[in-house]
Amino acid sequence: MPMEDQKEIEKLRSELNEHNYRYYVLAAPIISDAEYDHLLNRLRDLEKKHPELFSPDSPTQRVGAPIQAGFSEVVHLTPMLSLANAFSEEEVRAFDAKVKKLLGHEVGYTIEPKVDGLAVSLRYSHRRFFQGATRGDGERGEDITLNLKSLRDIPWDLPEYAPQEVEVRGEVYLNKADFERLNEERLDKGEAPFANPRNAAAGSLRQLDPRVTAGRPLHFWPYAGSGLRGITTQYQVLTDLEGLGFLRPNGLPDFLQNRLIRNIDDALALFKIFNDRRHEVPFEIDGMVIKVNSLKDQEALGFVGREPRWAIAYKFPAIQKTTILKDIQVQVGRTGSLNPVAILEPVEIGGVVVSRASLHNEDEIERKDIRIGDAVLVQRAGDVIPQIVMPIKERRTGEEKLFQMPERCPVCSSHTVRLPGYAMRYCTGGLSCEAQLIERLKHFAGRRAMDIEHLGSQLAKSLVEKKLVQSIADLYFLNKDSLLTLERFGEKSADNLLESIEKSKERPFSKVLFALGIPEVGEVTAKYLAEHFMSIDLLGRASLEDLEAVPGVGPSISESILQFFGEAHNQNVLERLAQAGLNLQQRAKKQRPLDGLIFVLTGRLERFTRPEAQSRLEALGAVVSSTLTKKANFLVAGAESGSKLEKAQSWGVPVLEEEELLRMLDESTSSEETSPHVTVDLKGRS
Ligand SMILES: [Zn+2]
Repeated sequence: MPMEDQKEIEKLRSELNEHNYRYYVLAAPIISDAEYDHLLNRLRDLEKKHPELFSPDSPTQRVGAPIQAGFSEVVHLTPMLSLANAFSEEEVRAFDAKVKKLLGHEVGYTIEPKVDGLAVSLRYSHRRFFQGATRGDGERGEDITLNLKSLRDIPWDLPEYAPQEVEVRGEVYLNKADFERLNEERLDKGEAPFANPRNAAAGSLRQLDPRVTAGRPLHFWPYAGSGLRGITTQYQVLTDLEGLGFLRPNGLPDFLQNRLIRNIDDALALFKIFNDRRHEVPFEIDGMVIKVNSLKDQEALGFVGREPRWAIAYKFPAIQKTTILKDIQVQVGRTGSLNPVAILEPVEIGGVVVSRASLHNEDEIERKDIRIGDAVLVQRAGDVIPQIVMPIKERRTGEEKLFQMPERCPVCSSHTVRLPGYAMRYCTGGLSCEAQLIERLKHFAGRRAMDIEHLGSQLAKSLVEKKLVQSIADLYFLNKDSLLTLERFGEKSADNLLESIEKSKERPFSKVLFALGIPEVGEVTAKYLAEHFMSIDLLGRASLEDLEAVPGVGPSISESILQFFGEAHNQNVLERLAQAGLNLQQRAKKQRPLDGLIFVLTGRLERFTRPEAQSRLEALGAVVSSTLTKKANFLVAGAESGSKLEKAQSWGVPVLEEEELLRMLDESTSSEETSPHVTVDLKGRS
C-alpha cells in the first residue's frame, strides 16, 4: 500500500531528524546507534522502493549536524507588543482609573513578575513545537527554532488533550548564578564578559550554531498563550500553560506565584514585596506586570499604538546614580587576568551602598572614555556587580587622568602581556605569582602534567596559604617537618606526598613543559616543542621565527612563550626546577642503524612483498618514500624497474638490488641486536 509507505516515510524522516538534532546539537541521544541505523536503513529501503517520494531534505541525503546559515524571517501571527511602563504609584493609579473609566466597571488584575530576558514566540501545530522566533521589530522576528529546542523548559510536544494549534509567548532568560559562571569561563578563555544576564541570554540564543545555545543553561518563562480552549481570563492562561508542560522552576519565592488581585491597592502593596525581595529570585526581574484579568475586557480595551491598554509594567526604582570615580585599581584573577576595578565615592543605589564597580577590561575603559576623577553614571542591576555606564563628560574639569593598565603585575611585579586576540591582559609570572599559585599548582600536579598523585586541590590551597609553597619549584624542596605543621596532615600523608613528588621527577620533558602552564601551550603543543627544541635551554633561547617553524605554533603561542621566558621570575623558578632534577631535556631516542635514511622502492621484488620490505626498513629507522627525489639515499630496484631507475642513475642516487637490500637488512638487524649505536657501513652501487 503506497499510501501507508508514504506515511511511514514521513514518520521516519521526522523521527530521524529529531534524533539527529538530539545527537548532534544537544549531544544527548535517546536511542542507541544501532537503533538509529535500523531506522535509517528502513527509510532507505522505503525510499528505494518509492523513488517518486525522493526528497533532498531526507535524513538519508544528509550527513552530520544540521547547519543553518543565518536566520530566516518569521512573520508573527499577531504583533508582539511592548508594554507601557510606570515608574510611580501615581502612574499606576492613573492606569487603573483609565481602565475602569473605559470599561465602566470594576476590574480584577493578574500580577506577574517582569522577567528581564528576551521575548520569544513558540508555535505548536498538531501539538508539536515547529517554530520559534524572536520578537524582532514586533511584526517580524528571526527563526530560532533549533536554538529554542535546546531549552529544557520548552516542551517539544503538548499533551493529547491540548488544542491542535497553540502559540505561547514568554521570556528566555539566564539565572544569575549561571551568568556569573559563564562570564568566568569567558574570562578564562580571554573573551570579553557579558555585561548582564539579559545580554548573555540574547547572545546565547542568537547563535548560528545551535550547539552553542545547547551548552548554555537558558530558561523560559511563559506569559501569554493563544489558541487555548475554554479560557476566559489571563489567570486561566497562566495555569493552563503550566498544565501543558510549561513548568516554572521549583523553589521560587512565594511572591512570584500566579496571582489574582481585586483592586489596584493590592498591586501597590505587592510591588513593595517584589522590590524588597527581588534578590531572592534566582534570575533578574525588573518590575512587575499588571494585566486586566478578563480576556473579554482586554479585547474591549484594545491598543494604543504598539501598547495594549490593558496592561502596564511597573518598574523598580532607578538603579543608576552619579558619583565620582576616585581610582582604578587592578586585581589579579586566579588565571592571571588583570581585572580593573573602579573605586567610587560611596553612593547609595537602590538601598545598597556601592563603592566599587566592574570595568571589565582596558578596551571597555577606552571605549567608554572613562578617566580617573570623572563623574560617572553607575548602575546596579540586581545582584550583579555594579557597572559604570558612562562618564559624564560635561562635568570634566581637565584634572581627570587617563588610566593605563600596569606593565607590572600588582601582586608579583612580573611583566604583564596582552596576547593577540585576547580581551584581557595577563600576568606572566605564572610560576610564582601568588594570585595564581593555587590554580597553577593544581595544574602542575595534574594527572596529564606532573601526575603528583597526592597533591589535590585542598592540599594545594593549604600549601599556598601556609606559605610552604611560594613558587612551583618550592614543591621539590619541601621537607617532612614543615609538612607536619599543616592541619590534619599526618606522617603517612607527608610520606605519600613526598614520595609522589619524588616520582614526578621522572616525568618526561614534554610533560614538564605542559605542567609549567605557559598560556596557550597545551599538551600537544608541549610535545611538539619538546621534540623540536629538545631542551628548555634551547626553547628559552628560541626566536619568534624559530618558534613559528614548529608545527601548530602560531604567532599567539610564540608570543606567549617569548613572554614567559623573558620573565626573570620564571627563569629563577626554572633554575630551581633544574636543581631539583626534573627532566628539562628530551631523552634521546634509541638510535637505529638506518635512522633518517630515505629509501625508495621500485620494480618487482622476488623475496618479499613491498609492504614487508617497507616495514623491515622502517623498523630499522629508515624512511620509505614513494617518490624519488635527489634527497633519497637509496633506490631499491627490483625486476622490471623503469623510469625511476634511470632517474636515480642520472642523479647519482645509489641503487640497491634486492639481494643487496636483503644483506643490508640482515646486517643492520644483527648489528642492532649486538651494538645499537654502530651504524653499518652502507655502500650502494652508483
Ligand atoms: Zn603576578
